[in-house]
Amino acid sequence: MTQPVFLVHYHEIGLKGRNRSSFERKLIDNISFLSKDLPVDGVRKISGRILVHVDVEALGPGLVLDDEGFIEGGLANPALDRLFQILRDIPGVARVSRGWRTNRELDDIRRVAAKVLGAAEPFGSFKVRARRSNTDFPIGSMELNQIIGSHLCESFPEAKVQMEYPDVTVFVEVIQGSTYIYADTQPGMGGLPVGTAGNVIALLSTGIDSPVAMWRMIHRGAVAIALHFSGAPQTDDSSEYLVREICEGLSSTGGVKRLCIARIGDYQAEIANVVPPKLRVIFFRRLMFTVANEVARRMGGKAIVTGESLGQVASQTMENIRAVDAVAELPVFRPLIGTDKQEIIALAQRIGTFDLSTRACADCCTLFLPRSPETHAKMREVEECAAKMDFALWAREICDSMQIVECRCNR
Ligand code: ATP
Ligand code: MG
Repeated sequence: MTQPVFLVHYHEIGLKGRNRSSFERKLIDNISFLSKDLPVDGVRKISGRILVHVDVEALGPGLVLDDEGFIEGGLANPALDRLFQILRDIPGVARVSRGWRTNRELDDIRRVAAKVLGAAEPFGSFKVRARRSNTDFPIGSMELNQIIGSHLCESFPEAKVQMEYPDVTVFVEVIQGSTYIYADTQPGMGGLPVGTAGNVIALLSTGIDSPVAMWRMIHRGAVAIALHFSGAPQTDDSSEYLVREICEGLSSTGGVKRLCIARIGDYQAEIANVVPPKLRVIFFRRLMFTVANEVARRMGGKAIVTGESLGQVASQTMENIRAVDAVAELPVFRPLIGTDKQEIIALAQRIGTFDLSTRACADCCTLFLPRSPETHAKMREVEECAAKMDFALWAREICDSMQIVECRCNR
């Protein structure tokens, strides 16, 4: 009996000592949750790997099995391709392999190995890499390499065995009572499983940077509560729709818990009345942080995250960052602080947010802005203005009326 399977490999988790089993459990939960609507029939741990069983019946009508129980046309099926991609994008997944599970009979192992190599055609060279994780299996890895290798040489007489840089590597892993055989193995996104760090309040604009910053924190195991500020009713509400699409796009990570949309246009107008033009941006941002404090109190959050990178725009100088951070009640993480725009763009493209972030829409930050904002705010001047407004009260009002959109997350 052969069954199609995916093997999920993880390595960083292996470094975490006694946290390891809780990390593995979280990764298994996350994989089960994110593959719920896909043809999956069980996710479980086997030695050093997570096994994802394919539900062959759920692959639907039109699926043809050959006499030996293999899917005709191999594993390159649209539903399985999708599952492959989804598994690779889950934080904590270092690598995913697509192949077959069989028993420990040598005849069956040889037969499946030949099927796997055949599916990799065309190729000119190959090698076998066997590994056994049970010492009760009587054949050692070296000998298994030879046994399977010579069978493959007979089955594919044109192909040559090549130890360095072969076109195809056939992996054979004997784990507990089964053997897993695959040649199709691809890198995942890496990182840590969602839920292994705490919740963060991620300030999410519709720009390029903040979705990447939020993704980076999710990638390190955090659960993000996204907080977006819209300029409505002083601007239109287009950013509110775009930011939903960005969260939807990042939902494949399972790390966006919810999106909070706060309308601050009228409060910005009030700030513009009280604060000298050059300090407005700083106060808009202090208001954002004060609201983030309140959201963290209400929903649970251990840090604030922004997409700033040092020196990128006027508000991102050290003095201005200090003037804004002064109101934060939690650590502020800026995962992009030392990155160049080009690197951020490359990552935005990789995680699929770039095209959304380059769409035009209303931006609350450009409301009531002077031509030359302050680049080196003086704390004394800032504190004097701050005393004229009750941001804590405003933050509570803003939170009372914000829209809350629940996202796809099991945490
Ligand atoms: P981004 O591309 O992420 O908008 P940016 O380079 O345009 O960043 P700013 O507009 O100064 O920089 O914003 C700096 C950070 O402040 C953003 O990365 C984001 O975390 C937060 N921020 C800015 N505008 C908003 C908003 N409308 N809603 C929520 N957070 C925002
Ligand atoms: Mg911006």
